Amino acid sequence: MNEQRFPTTSASDASEHSRQAPHGHQADLQDGLDFVNTLELERGDPVDRLASPATALHWLREHGFLHDQTMERLATQFADDEEVGQRALGRIRRVRGAMREVLDATVERRPPDGQALERVNRALRTPYTYELVPAPDGVSLDHRHDGDPIDGALARLAESVAREVSQGEPERLRICANEECRWVFNDTSPTGRRKWCDMSTCGNRAKAARHRERRKSETADPPDGVAAAG
Ligand SMILES: [Zn+2]
Ligand SMILES: [Zn+2]
Repeated sequence: MNEQRFPTTSASDASEHSRQAPHGHQADLQDGLDFVNTLELERGDPVDRLASPATALHWLREHGFLHDQTMERLATQFADDEEVGQRALGRIRRVRGAMREVLDATVERRPPDGQALERVNRALRTPYTYELVPAPDGVSLDHRHDGDPIDGALARLAESVAREVSQGEPERLRICANEECRWVFNDTSPTGRRKWCDMSTCGNRAKAARHRERRKSETADPPDGVAAAG
């Protein structure tokens, strides 16, 4: 694989680098959770937001895990050979599934499936090299891509979740209580008692469902007095 180098500070000239926003591809927890939630439930049915190799590339690009040029190169490669794209997509989805299992296990306070753990560990192994480079006013931190760019992106995403479940606040991780949603989210509320990924959607839906249930049971089981009168 060819090595790519991009400065994390934008160059002042109109070179290729100046179009590249400063970045280091580091994933924060939210990126990791967003990634896992790209496989979501819609009214209980699974919907994959990474539906094709091209959508997966765009997702990674949008979240700052692929350089524009890398994405374009991969997109061309995938367009030329569908199998290459499908293989990459398969890899992305398998790591995502394994990350989900690790998160589920954390929330459920149980050890994760061994295969899933091994897959996340494999994803973490892609090297990522930091290096200092001279800058007009001193030095700046640069990075190098030594391996496959998709593997590199997956490594950063896996790392964000690995850090959180081991050294972060794993007790703040939640799975949405809506059985038809099951989003993974980080409960940042002061009380730490959030049950739904989003109060305005899942929270209200749950409230509405409870309300419907109550109305139904009221009509299904009329009070004794009413039944006796019939
Ligand atoms: Zn980069
Ligand atoms: Zn939800």
